Amino acid sequence: MRRTSVAMTVAIEEALVQRLVRDDGQEDICLATYRPSTGLSRFSALIRAVVPPEPGDRLVHGNATVTADYILRGAEAAQEDKCGLVLLHSHPGASHWQTMSAPDRACEASYANLVREVTGLPLVGMTLATGDRSWSARHWDVGVGRAVHCTHSTNVRVIGGKFAVTWNDAVQPPPQPSTRQTRTVSAWGDRTQADLVRRRVLVVGAGSVGLDVFVRLAASGLCHLTVMDFDIVETHNLDRLIGAERRDARLRRPKVHVALREARKAATAARCNIKVSDRSICELEGLRLALDHDLIFSCVDRPWPRAVLNSLAYSDLIPVIDGGIAIDTFSGGEMRNATWRSHVVRPGRPCMSCNRQLDLGLVAPERQGLLDDPAYIQHAGESFRPINPNVAPLSVNVVASILAQYVSFSVAPAGFGDPGPLQYALSTHHLECREDSASPHCTTEVAEGVGDHRVCLTGLHKDAERTRQFTGAVGASVRLLRLIDDRIEGVTTWLNLLGD
Ligand SMILES: [Zn+2]
Repeated sequence: MRRTSVAMTVAIEEALVQRLVRDDGQEDICLATYRPSTGLSRFSALIRAVVPPEPGDRLVHGNATVTADYILRGAEAAQEDKCGLVLLHSHPGASHWQTMSAPDRACEASYANLVREVTGLPLVGMTLATGDRSWSARHWDVGVGRAVHCTHSTNVRVIGGKFAVTWNDAVQPPPQPSTRQTRTVSAWGDRTQADLVRRRVLVVGAGSVGLDVFVRLAASGLCHLTVMDFDIVETHNLDRLIGAERRDARLRRPKVHVALREARKAATAARCNIKVSDRSICELEGLRLALDHDLIFSCVDRPWPRAVLNSLAYSDLIPVIDGGIAIDTFSGGEMRNATWRSHVVRPGRPCMSCNRQLDLGLVAPERQGLLDDPAYIQHAGESFRPINPNVAPLSVNVVASILAQYVSFSVAPAGFGDPGPLQYALSTHHLECREDSASPHCTTEVAEGVGDHRVCLTGLHKDAERTRQFTGAVGASVRLLRLIDDRIEGVTTWLNLLGD
């Protein structure tokens, strides 16, 4: 079944709250426009702008009533901006996700056909519970005429310093915390745990950082996790991929296989739904899978995948938590310094290009395969180093820094949300909170909430295709050996579960 969701920035939320919360405590109504963001299994409405009411557009008499003229004007404004229409009203003093009263349902159903006819997109209905600023939403996307029905959304996501998600318990019930999570729950309480564990989280890249992040998310009780990487384990990865074994390198196992195995061992949720994908985020299928998620961890170092993630954090309002490490050496090979960075990429914060963590000029050469061309690398000099030194004792600091950003952004301890870009220099033991600001000329940040109208950065990824194909006699025999090894691993996991 297709899931639906709504996302907005905290700036849009503020504008809506100003329209919907009245000094006299009565209910109110307003309209807004949205752009669609279509994933493989989720359709999200990204709220773009408020369509303010004019005098006489709605009647406020305890309950509020909207006029057909306002709906028609809103639908025409939406259609001109290639948007859908959102009809919002408030429930004064209420809290949590709201169910619909019979008059609410009748009102939205009566305009659903007209709005879809004008805009070509389903009407989205939303309710603000003013008691605790909870949102609820439904998409009028089933049937036509008198048989029109709505799909209740899974959640509503507001992206600001804190990532605030309201959940529809009827569609996505909160799982019961297990005894294995007692210490985790005691850190931030039941309500926060029930929020965190329901989020669909994607980790892009299952290398030294991504693998560790993925396993720790599973250990903290998350129920819906996906890891994406097309690469395989090789002997030279074994000094950093904690959990990967020599047989994984011998069998040329996909890195996502190791991530799946280790996350299953660590998972504390009674039911942890772990998905793996051997796509690249640079491929259309990889991007569409990413659009099914609420939060993404960027654990890749190449410019092209980072550019795709940088773009979708703004265009599709899915926050991306990114980090990396650079180790400098002297010409003689001795260590000079190590620097690790972490930041949440989201509207309101500078993008990875503006905070100088991504050189967009390297995306085109990467797409042309030049970043693996020795002549190009020599010419590019310092701006691109294909083999970055990295060591297991330091990569864990990137993991820690990224996960601390995740906790600040998701939990906001004492009301403080994400701290902005952080950078630590190992040689001088100096932690810096960087003041990088957004650029007025940044094309990534202005494309906020454009959804399916985003600039297309995906394409054919030759490396990913080549790694997945792995054909011929050698490929066939390795696949057979992997199959036998999988069976042995399956029996071991089963025996371990029996032991529990
Ligand atoms: Zn920017």
